[in-house]
Amino acid sequence: MATTKKKGKKEELEFKRESGWIRIDNKTKRDIFAFSESYKKFINHCKIEREVVEYIKTEAVKSGFKNIKEARKLKKGDKVFYEVNSKSIYLAVIGEPKLKVVISHVDSPRLDLKPFPIIEDALSGLSLLKTHYYGGIKKYQWVNIPLAIHGVIITKKGKISVSLGDEDDDKTFVISDLLPHLAQKQMEKTGKEIIEGENLSIIFGNMPIKDKGVKANILKILNEEYKIKEENFVSAELEVVPAFKAKDVGLDKSMIGAYGHDDRSCSFALLSAILKANNSKETAVALFVDKEEIGSEGNTSAQSAHFINFIELINEKAKWNKRTNELLTSGEAISADVTSAFDPIYQDVFDKHNASYLSRGVSIEKYNGSGGKYYGNDANAEFLFKIIDLANKNKIIWQSGEIGKIDIGGGGTVAVFLSKLGFEVVDAGIPVLGMHSPYEVISKLDLYSAYQLYKVFLNGK
Ligand code: MN
Ligand code: MN
Repeated sequence: MATTKKKGKKEELEFKRESGWIRIDNKTKRDIFAFSESYKKFINHCKIEREVVEYIKTEAVKSGFKNIKEARKLKKGDKVFYEVNSKSIYLAVIGEPKLKVVISHVDSPRLDLKPFPIIEDALSGLSLLKTHYYGGIKKYQWVNIPLAIHGVIITKKGKISVSLGDEDDDKTFVISDLLPHLAQKQMEKTGKEIIEGENLSIIFGNMPIKDKGVKANILKILNEEYKIKEENFVSAELEVVPAFKAKDVGLDKSMIGAYGHDDRSCSFALLSAILKANNSKETAVALFVDKEEIGSEGNTSAQSAHFINFIELINEKAKWNKRTNELLTSGEAISADVTSAFDPIYQDVFDKHNASYLSRGVSIEKYNGSGGKYYGNDANAEFLFKIIDLANKNKIIWQSGEIGKIDIGGGGTVAVFLSKLGFEVVDAGIPVLGMHSPYEVISKLDLYSAYQLYKVFLNGK
């Protein structure tokens, strides 16, 4: 459809619904592709929250961030970090006592190992690893795909980092599904039951020791090659994640397929933004939190008192002499979490007038929640306008939408937790196709526009 010459308000909005790819110049396109290459390296390297936090800390230290607990006093321009149990990390660039916060999460849906994961089926001669899924997954998506195991095992001698089964390893792991030839009964089940949680068990070995069995051999290998005993699994944190590498998607390479875009695409955009923060009028803060996918519970989550402690440490060491509540209630925040992208195959679940689309830019969303906005954040109109105005002034490609049709479902983000503390908060994130699946898809353009928005927001531009 042709656009009319006279641009009234309606045409203006229609314009925003055009693909971002035809609204950018060649230089921006090159920048987007270069940014996406760094992102792919990051996402290949960071399969679990601990690896994301380690990566962020390394990059932050390289850029001059120091551990706030070791700083005696802080002045404008100082850069600090605060780490919680290797699973969440906060960064800040000190300016005036006015908080500008962007928060993303670093955990993704996955399968965790159970405390006693190793079992043996004597009849089949197979050793299996039992799992307990974490977050909202469609269980049937996790069978018969290559899987990797990442995490930590704590022993008396210290912490052992585990990273096994990825594409560049010579071994991998897999959960077996039933062959279609014998699946007549299984195929009659509902999607929820077709693969049961207790059946998400990973094939781990098949070579027995004579008279001792296959588990004995697995334990022997674990002991000899990795110095791990069976009891070490009880306290370990081992996560089963897809083994795939990130790749460009589409013949035009406009998209990226990877495990964990939710919410590591926003985390990467945010990290890139805070590393470039230079704002003396305000204090730029980037929060990378854990446990969002299971409701933000626990001391590594967005609801943790560690965040308040971090703000109090800044207040104290920068000699701001402000009350904590004054700092929180005068703060502004963006909740940087992914949103659903309109899927042409499943159009029915979206309100097409209020959906977010791939390649139309970062999606700035007023509210979320489900069943009538329950448990959601609903940004105040004045603040939402301010963020949209900021995007427009800086020529950032953005769109707006909501997750899907009202009565069908919904979802929330960590925005609610900051808004409860008094912050003005709005959601702004990257649209994802196939969210929570082992291989999610995003647009390179949306990834870059999210980075641009977080950067101008943190810089107070
Ligand atoms: Mn998320
Ligand atoms: Mn999620």
